[in-house]
Amino acid sequence: MGFELFVVTNQSGVGRGYFSLESVYVIHRQLQNDLRAHKLEAFKDFAICPHAPSDHCLCRKPSGQMIKDLIVKHHISPKHSYMVGDKLIDAESGHNAQIQGIIVRQKPAKESDFPFFKTLLEFAQSLQA
Ligand SMILES: [Zn+2]
Repeated sequence: MGFELFVVTNQSGVGRGYFSLESVYVIHRQLQNDLRAHKLEAFKDFAICPHAPSDHCLCRKPSGQMIKDLIVKHHISPKHSYMVGDKLIDAESGHNAQIQGIIVRQKPAKESDFPFFKTLLEFAQSLQA
């Protein structure tokens, strides 16, 4: 549909010492390779919060900071963008960056004001309607 795709991810396992930031990069590179191998659109960029909650950083979702940084870096139109995730904090991070938050998950999320879809396809079809 012409959307540019980005990943915005909390990886507190790095801050907690469970795995390295380099191992997160390795997984992201593999993800990109898998998408390209299937002739699918790869992600344009990744925003990673490597901090533990106890670090009290400014980037960890539900903060909108990582999204705001991507908006500036890639000249993204917030009005024509969506933050899609399976957790309430994902949708909230979008809201905190002034973009529409969307929840996609099989089981209904906690009661919230965010639009909810069971699959990414269902969400994409709603955009075409
Ligand atoms: Zn952070």
